[in-house]
Amino acid sequence: MFEKILIANRGDIALRIHRACREMGIKTVAVHSTADSGAMNVRLADESVCIGPPPSNDSYLNIPAILSAAAVTGADAIHPGVGFLSENPDFAEIVQEHGLTFIGPKPEHIRTMGDKIEAKKTALALGLPCIPGSENAIESLDDAIDIAKEIGFPVLIKASAGGGGRGMQLALEQKDLAKAINLAQSEAQAAFGSSDVYIEKYLANPRHIEIQIVGDQHGNVIHLGERDCSLQRRHQKILEETPSPALNGKTRLLAGQLAAESMQKFGYESLGTIEFLYENGKFFFIEMNTRLQVEHPITEMVTGIDLVRKQIQISAGMPMDLVQEDIVFTGHSIECRINAEDPVSFRPSPGKISDYHAPGGLGVRIDSALYAGYEIPPYYDSLVAKLIIHGKNRNECLLRLSRALDEFVIGNIETTIPLHQKLLMSSEFLDGEYNINWLESKFLAS
Ligand code: ADP
Repeated sequence: MFEKILIANRGDIALRIHRACREMGIKTVAVHSTADSGAMNVRLADESVCIGPPPSNDSYLNIPAILSAAAVTGADAIHPGVGFLSENPDFAEIVQEHGLTFIGPKPEHIRTMGDKIEAKKTALALGLPCIPGSENAIESLDDAIDIAKEIGFPVLIKASAGGGGRGMQLALEQKDLAKAINLAQSEAQAAFGSSDVYIEKYLANPRHIEIQIVGDQHGNVIHLGERDCSLQRRHQKILEETPSPALNGKTRLLAGQLAAESMQKFGYESLGTIEFLYENGKFFFIEMNTRLQVEHPITEMVTGIDLVRKQIQISAGMPMDLVQEDIVFTGHSIECRINAEDPVSFRPSPGKISDYHAPGGLGVRIDSALYAGYEIPPYYDSLVAKLIIHGKNRNECLLRLSRALDEFVIGNIETTIPLHQKLLMSSEFLDGEYNINWLESKFLAS
């Protein structure tokens, strides 16, 4: 097992990884920008190294600085966390070339799944159903028109290097196509440095259902059930729950088996998430995330498995100590993403937190690096806390969520807590009757 892990991330996820390491008797190294010197994860780590100024490019994405920090502290592995370098295959390779372990999958698997066109081709070959669309990047408008006519409008233009919902444009009919392609291409070029875009049939009202899988280095792959992430704004997840209110036992099993079998064929190692859109009883692969997910805690709550611990054990070469039949799903879990944002305009609201009081009690978990007096820097993602609830069924979970939100105090800044409280007053949400468009086009629009 590793003796010391460098955590190349910040905020709640860095703290989450630190906690798993501590429980495993592994020492931690926090790396941080000058804006994060007072962060909770930095204070709790065994050692910390400042790796640069606030902009991510100069710190959390600064590969030489991170590798130097690992060398200086004698770390033997690097955990990339979520975002930043977690899905950068070059980084994974460089880490290995320096004699360190990258806690994640093989670089070639990150590379294949990071290119969405390649990912779809691979998924098809592995037997996963995909949304009809172009096989390759769009080469010309005529090419795009032919494909769009074949699959039928409306269509979505998506960036091959996409992520975070960027580089996606809807074309309702043929006359919208040229503009949608141009917009998607320029957005993709600016955000990802590649203007490759592809076409996909636009599904009108699907749900976003993803399957958590775990594979070891010895050919064993299991799945840990689904997460329903259909509550989205601008293609970004706001609240996730498991089990999905839309699936029955049979469909749930089908999706889990599909995901695990395909990853077994792929030879996948580490944690991974297969994302599907689900409409009219059918699953369609959209992408795979080759890393830990923000919403991983809800899977932990219903399975009792510490995913980060598993991920570290797998990277250390340990065989999986579980078979599919060992996995028992207990109760219901919901995660609310609490962002430092105005709950109506969604404008970021960084600043110094005056009071901080986290809710507690049975079935309430908070993953957050906040504390009273902490100053949220304006440079990074606005997610500042995850409120994770577990209950014996969905109803108990919802009642517990409501009282936990009422107890939560994050003083002096705006947060999305009121948005979640409002959601709990919506009969559609309470009934589990929502799809990927509902939050934005119905709930927020009303
Ligand atoms: P990203 O990597 O940017 O998150 P995804 O491919 O995972 O992109 O898609 C993000 C979200 O965009 C999905 O959860 C869904 O809401 C929407 N979406 C993606 N593809 C389609 C599609 N073909 N039809 C309808 N909505 C889609």
